[in-house]
Amino acid sequence: MTMISKVRILCPHCEELIEQEILVPDPNFMAEKMKDSAVEFDDEIQCEHCDNEINIWGSNSYYELYLASEDVSEKDFYYSQPEYDFGEYETDETIEESGIQGVLSERGIKSLYHFTKIENLEAISKQGIIPRAQLKEGDYEYTDINRSDGFLDANCISISFPQYRMFFIKRIKNPLQNWVVFEISPELLSACEAAFFERNAASRIVQSEVIENRKTATAFENMFSNIDNLPKREESKIPDCYPTDPQAEVLVFDKVDKSFIVAAHFPSEDVADHYAHSLNGIPAKVTPELFENRMDHDLL
Ligand SMILES: [Zn+2]
Repeated sequence: MTMISKVRILCPHCEELIEQEILVPDPNFMAEKMKDSAVEFDDEIQCEHCDNEINIWGSNSYYELYLASEDVSEKDFYYSQPEYDFGEYETDETIEESGIQGVLSERGIKSLYHFTKIENLEAISKQGIIPRAQLKEGDYEYTDINRSDGFLDANCISISFPQYRMFFIKRIKNPLQNWVVFEISPELLSACEAAFFERNAASRIVQSEVIENRKTATAFENMFSNIDNLPKREESKIPDCYPTDPQAEVLVFDKVDKSFIVAAHFPSEDVADHYAHSLNGIPAKVTPELFENRMDHDLL
């Protein structure tokens, strides 16, 4: 039980408004298929006005949380999509002194990644990667269609390996869609305003104080600390440059200038050949392993 959802219902007993936060389980990140990722649970909500207990049933998957109760009609049952309980970090003086650059060199981070639909290749090769909120309609195809939250003004970047979970989900949803993975220079992180999330943040709502707290070198370094409910790094033996959670992500609140794009990675020669004319000077590479699972996948 590590995610939180805000629930708002009218108590069927005293008819007062119940407003509570409930804990919901993580989706099953081991599931190979979308439809198997849902984790079901039962819970009770106790009315804060009359102590009446309401039984609820829930299911949380990659897609979304679903909550229901026999005592409350579906249309009167309001709840938020769940978010992780992001605590605030105390900044660490030593880490802050060596800064983002210190973390990059200590951990040997050589590349950042961003995946997008292949249709965006041409626009990105010309203009760089632009946060969705700054795009004009028709500029390009949104990668994250569910992103109806406060993060529209950021690009999602992952460290040392593509955020393959999200990538996997999107490919399952639409198997005919082709994708490109952009490799980005780590220098971006010193040049741009960025927030570092040790778990998946962007598809969920995160409070602005937490975002501010995540803009430090300490937050960056904490992406590489052990996390409850995930295998310890000593066990998973992932390289120092991999964040502990494969879904960890960096939100970059600026355009990623084309000069930071190191390469465009394709899953096969065929796809690379087909789009070679759209690259505007960006080197093409065929790297099927960037389209697969991260090495610690079987442990998760
Ligand atoms: Zn009540």
